[in-house]
Amino acid sequence: MDIIDRIGETITQVGNAAGQKAKDVSEYAKLTSELHSLEKKQQDLFLELGKRFFEENMDSKDEAVEALKEIAADVDHLKEQIAGLKGGDSCPSCGAVVPKGSKFCNSCGAKLSIFEEEETTEEE
Ligand SMILES: [Zn+2]
Repeated sequence: MDIIDRIGETITQVGNAAGQKAKDVSEYAKLTSELHSLEKKQQDLFLELGKRFFEENMDSKDEAVEALKEIAADVDHLKEQIAGLKGGDSCPSCGAVVPKGSKFCNSCGAKLSIFEEEETTEEE
């Protein structure tokens, strides 16, 4: 085989290898993107399932349910504190800060009068 043929063959091999590599890279990108989207769906469903389980088992003595209830109470408390710093109330439904004395939440439209009744005027 003469040198020109050998060089030609080498170039072809390198070209094929590069083409295969490009194919592998795009296949890799396709598969990882598919994987991420499936994992996201999986996570969303677990979350939904967990929320449903939580709502259906609020009274159970399951450790995770108990822990979640405690966290929910702490979250509400923190939201109220934050709302207080901003000079408003926290919507018990969505947590948005609303001006003190609001009857409805600006953000989700929830009725807030229940929230007002819970608060006594003994604070000041
Ligand atoms: Zn709200």
